[in-house]
Amino acid sequence: MPIKTLQEMRILVVDDDAFILKTLTRILQKAGVTKLICSDVATEALKHLSSRLKPVDVLISDLNMPELDGIELIRYIGELPNKISLILISGEDKRILETAESIAKERQIDVLGSLQKPILAPELLEMLQSPELVKTVESRELGANDLANELRLALQNHEIEPFYQPQVCSDTLAVVGIEALARWRHPRQGLIPPNIFIPLAEQLNLINELTEIIYQQAFADLASLHQQGWQVTLSVNFSAQCLAWLDVPERVQKALKAHEILPKYVIIEVTESLLSRDLATSLDILTRFRLKGLGLSIDDFGTGFSTMEQLRRIPFNELKVDRSFVHGATQNHVSYAILESSLNLAKKLAIKTVAEGVEDQADFDLVKALGCHIIQGYMFAKPMPMDDLCGWLTMYNSKAE
Ligand code: C2E
Ligand code: CA
Ligand code: CA
Repeated sequence: MPIKTLQEMRILVVDDDAFILKTLTRILQKAGVTKLICSDVATEALKHLSSRLKPVDVLISDLNMPELDGIELIRYIGELPNKISLILISGEDKRILETAESIAKERQIDVLGSLQKPILAPELLEMLQSPELVKTVESRELGANDLANELRLALQNHEIEPFYQPQVCSDTLAVVGIEALARWRHPRQGLIPPNIFIPLAEQLNLINELTEIIYQQAFADLASLHQQGWQVTLSVNFSAQCLAWLDVPERVQKALKAHEILPKYVIIEVTESLLSRDLATSLDILTRFRLKGLGLSIDDFGTGFSTMEQLRRIPFNELKVDRSFVHGATQNHVSYAILESSLNLAKKLAIKTVAEGVEDQADFDLVKALGCHIIQGYMFAKPMPMDDLCGWLTMYNSKAE
């Protein structure tokens, strides 16, 4: 096996200062680095950082950037499933750099060191050649390749399946819907959550296949629920990439017919922050879903950027406030403000509202008082397999009576 050298490491440099970017590029390229990504916008860097297929090994980041500072970036990296080694750079006081370094360590990030501007080549290269880094980089690469191959097999072997989370009416507390959430039942690693494999499926162009597996299974399960007398709706998540799949509305319609499900029972959820790519094609597909009688929900509302514009152009009939603005909103005035204004906006547009992430009575009372129609969250139930759902529905209903 070849030893992972500097040439093979994927290094991401983020700094809003073009001169620093140039200097670092020169130093790194001279040292033989070939997989170098430079970015002067921190938010763009986030995309590279969350890539599982081309995992970033080392992030060299400035602390002071206009859109997103280094400390926010550290928080983000700390939450990522892939481990990234970090070098901090700054023109600030050494003490600030040290504090930032300890915040990163606190978040279990592997900190290689920090550098004060002007950057000196030998210092930087020494950090990049630490034996521990070389070792971790090697195992990361193997891990990423393994996971990609395993996901391909998992799709063929039916290891991906939907779990379902109930949604209740805020007024009557009756169960009115379920959301299908993908799970990977890995033969050795157990249940793998979607935030690990959905981004990977997107990068490997397997997301359409995965989505089809989920909706086909979910439609079969929905038909069975309807036969048992549970007249619930079903929400299915669609990635932005699926909105470039021109015949998907027809495929979905065909599947609905095969299971004898009326389209009004199915809601397509699309994430707000992902809608911007090819608006013409997305609009074409989303509008055709609506024309065929399906519901259209804007998911993770509040987390994206061009919110208003998208609401105006795309025929959504449901708005889902992201759970980050719901749970604990009574204690946090910023979440409260976003929650309240999102719900008000939906009301003005006569759009149905869903709050996800309702974990306790305080969350419930608040979203209900703010006029939200449908509630989803751990307070009622976590996502569960179909086998458990029927039992849960019976149990929930008998308690309500
Ligand atoms: P999402 O669509 O925003 O789904 C809601 C997530 O919030 C789910 O996480 C759910 O388990 C979680 N959740 C619900 N109520 C609560 C609560 O009270 N507290 C907390 N802490 N969490 C709650 P999950 O199942 O891990 O899914 C994560 C994300 O993965 C989903 O976020 C969705 O974006 C994506 N995803 C899941 N299944 C699919 C799929 O079939 N296709 C696509 N494209 N994306 C999917
Ligand atoms: Ca969703
Ligand atoms: Ca969400």
